[in-house]
Amino acid sequence: MRICIHRGSKQIGGSCVEVEDEGQRLLIDLGLPLDAESNDSQHLPAIQALDGNDPSLLGILISHPHLDHFGLLAHISPNIPIGMGADARRILSAAAPFLPNNPPIPSSGWDYQSNQTFGIGPFKITPFLVDHSAYDAYAFLIEAGGKRLFYSGDFRAHGRKSALFYRFIEKPPCNIDALLVEGSSLSRLSSDQRFPSESEIEDQLVQAYSATDGMALIHTSAQNIDRIVSILRACKKTGRRLVIDLYAAAILEATGNQNIPQSDWPDVALYVPQSQRIQIKKNAWFDLLKKHSKNRIFIESLQESPKKSTILFRPLHCSDLEKGNCLEGASYIYSQWEGYWERGTYDKLKDWLEYHNISKQSVHTSGHASPADLKNFVEALAPKKVVPIHSFMPERYADLYTNVEQHHDGEWWKI
Ligand SMILES: [Zn+2]
Repeated sequence: MRICIHRGSKQIGGSCVEVEDEGQRLLIDLGLPLDAESNDSQHLPAIQALDGNDPSLLGILISHPHLDHFGLLAHISPNIPIGMGADARRILSAAAPFLPNNPPIPSSGWDYQSNQTFGIGPFKITPFLVDHSAYDAYAFLIEAGGKRLFYSGDFRAHGRKSALFYRFIEKPPCNIDALLVEGSSLSRLSSDQRFPSESEIEDQLVQAYSATDGMALIHTSAQNIDRIVSILRACKKTGRRLVIDLYAAAILEATGNQNIPQSDWPDVALYVPQSQRIQIKKNAWFDLLKKHSKNRIFIESLQESPKKSTILFRPLHCSDLEKGNCLEGASYIYSQWEGYWERGTYDKLKDWLEYHNISKQSVHTSGHASPADLKNFVEALAPKKVVPIHSFMPERYADLYTNVEQHHDGEWWKI
């Protein structure tokens, strides 16, 4: 089997790997680089056949629904089959109409079942469901020509599905010839540091809500399902309801998992901000609205009891909350990657918060494994060689693991 990392050997984001056997090819992930200013085709790696006219490209396996792993699907032929988790596929389809810049809806192809091997041409693929901040995320074992490649995708051991990690390292696949393993945390943590767990995040949220005299504005991605669970659990412990918008309601429904918070749960309420009402009218999303309206509330309800509400906040809520006088005693909790804040994505929001004298506090943990968990993962798989991917510090791999072999973007190598 021949392998080429098109992008990701020295960076986080924009991942794309090609594997080839008997003249047949598969891509693994086709991500948008994190530093891309917009999602356009100039970011596509130089790969033949993305126009769908070369039958040697059998398809693309997407590990999970984060833009830095699937975003460039927007620019390829819809005739190329795409592998994905079925839940992830539904989430992306539910989210796309709400989002600007037409994020891609993946073409059909293969729907993964964890631990169930399937064949594509000369390749045998076994997906493994992993603990990550994206829902329905997978690692892959790829077998061809008598060789075994393992691709870790993005994973962690401190989320709400950490049991998946421990079960995996107890009984990992054996005889791995090469392991492509992510190392996102290596540029952020020393070997003995770790990220807080999602349950520690829940405790921090309980404290933050308790210290808030008014409404708690929690700013996170509705697609970070583990976080939504932490947020709601903290709401229940502090006598608050969780107020979501129609976008979040649609995402939560798309998980297809009745154990995940839903718009009709007793502690959840739907508030549709003005700009979303316009979107609903324009697109005639009346059935969707009706489906999620069992616990629908209006601004008066938020005005009456701000201390009993935590709102799953996005900047589109600003004018509603301001006009509705809902901000007395409010707190703002930033619960996503700090990089968005630092690079100015929310500069307007920053000004708005300052104007209303609301300070920012951060409650967040990473979707990526701490160095100690990475080490346990690699030692369990005991591969013949470890190849860095999805890391800004590939040079640190050799401090953690044996048999490290770095390969550059665009370089073909063989196992
Ligand atoms: Zn990810």
